[in-house]
Amino acid sequence: MIQTKIRHGISDRESSYSMKTIKNQEKSGPVVIARNEHEISRKLISPNALRVLYRLKDNGFAGYLVGGCVRDLLLGREPKDFDVVTDATPGEVKRIFRNCRLVGRRFRLAHIHFQNEIIELATFRSQAPDEPETETEPKEADGAEQRRHSRMLKDDDGMILRDNVYGTPEEDALRRDFTVNSLSYNIADFSIIDYTGGLADLNAGIIRTIGDPDVRFQEDPVRMLRAVRFAAQLGFTIEEKTRKALVAAADTIVRAAAPRLFDEMLKLLLSGEGAKCYDLLRQTGLFQALFPDFANWLSEESEGFPHTRFGEMLECVDSRVQQGTRVSPPLLLALLFGEYIDGKTGRFRQQGMPWQQSVNAAVAEFMGETCPIIMITNRVAIALREIISQQMRLKKIPGRRPESFTARDDFNDIIEYCRITRGDKKDVARLLDWWTAQSRQQEPVPVPAELAAAGEAPQRKKRRRRRRKPNTKNRTEAE
Ligand code: ATP
Ligand code: MG
Repeated sequence: MIQTKIRHGISDRESSYSMKTIKNQEKSGPVVIARNEHEISRKLISPNALRVLYRLKDNGFAGYLVGGCVRDLLLGREPKDFDVVTDATPGEVKRIFRNCRLVGRRFRLAHIHFQNEIIELATFRSQAPDEPETETEPKEADGAEQRRHSRMLKDDDGMILRDNVYGTPEEDALRRDFTVNSLSYNIADFSIIDYTGGLADLNAGIIRTIGDPDVRFQEDPVRMLRAVRFAAQLGFTIEEKTRKALVAAADTIVRAAAPRLFDEMLKLLLSGEGAKCYDLLRQTGLFQALFPDFANWLSEESEGFPHTRFGEMLECVDSRVQQGTRVSPPLLLALLFGEYIDGKTGRFRQQGMPWQQSVNAAVAEFMGETCPIIMITNRVAIALREIISQQMRLKKIPGRRPESFTARDDFNDIIEYCRITRGDKKDVARLLDWWTAQSRQQEPVPVPAELAAAGEAPQRKKRRRRRRKPNTKNRTEAE
């Protein structure tokens, strides 16, 4: 029953059932929804996650599904991944699972490897350290692994740097970010456990931090981006106190590690709801804090025209993601920031720089602005530069060795970028059709007369070879 109520038609948000159980929660412990009162079926759970849960149970340990997967199952959405928590320590987990690897410094986790899937298995953690900080690990007399404490480390501003304090299931739920992300599914009796009012918030479509939002955003500023992403993705609203705290703390987003912000931005922009995410980022002040230079440029006009392409590109990326078409990170960046980078290229060109050098300088300038806050990886930056600079190559058909151009790993991204940004022009569309035909054949495809006539296919010049005088160079070098 509860599944139909929670699933977001939100026809019956305030069911007598959920209101009664939530009132109970205020008086005594968690709300527990028994197996026959919710509709999470084991058929919807990854078989590998179930294997992990049953193995834990058979070895006498607790095993819960937690976080996003329980939230999504209750909403009738397909979970992206399945996270499991247990009271077994990482050492105990390693003994039970042969296919296990312990990973992570900030959070010590076990990865249970299956053929096509990795199940993340964590030991219940607590938010607060329960004994003074110490780096030494006490050992039990019999040599068995003792539960490790004192693994919580915060910086002077209260940001969590490391967080490995083991705790109870309740403590583990309370240290999570939002109430809707704190629900768990207990393999022992197939019940759902709610320590934070997450079920009520799921019913009402609300993103609310667990505990004081000011403190929670201070501990981890990335939670602000997560709030935006979940609100946009699930069509939820950010609860008022949480929203106010978010707006007040928006500028502190830059304290988060730059590589983590890059990962998080990709998740936002490739969520299928990038346009909604952008609206929320702008309304809360997060966008200005994350992209100060680009945000200023967006608010200005070029030659009397506002910069509208960014919004159009967000919508285009959303519709592709929603249709299940992959958008690579370099293509995403090219689509969103290409016009901005082109503007920079134009400036360098005016200063007399050759075209290719101007593109390189423009991308370098964009990276210089962005990377102190959002660390775009070098690999992605190079691929972005290639997508932009290879647009010139598309004009030359057939050009030299077209088959080696179509064999490039990024050929599809280069074509897609051109198609999305300029494909509405007839001659460009024809060019792209020619390249697509060429990419499907080994042999050179004839160039249509109208393209050649339009001057798109410059005549190949015969290269004159300079004759080298034998040994003169070497002799000069040797001298
Ligand atoms: P997604 O659909 O993107 O996977 P998710 O909620 O599962 O959403 P994950 O990043 O997979 O997000 O994290 C799993 C769970 O870990 C979350 O549901 C939440 O309970 C907890 N969590 C993740 N990041 C944080 C954080 N920064 N602070 C507190 N808890 C977090
Ligand atoms: Mg997840």
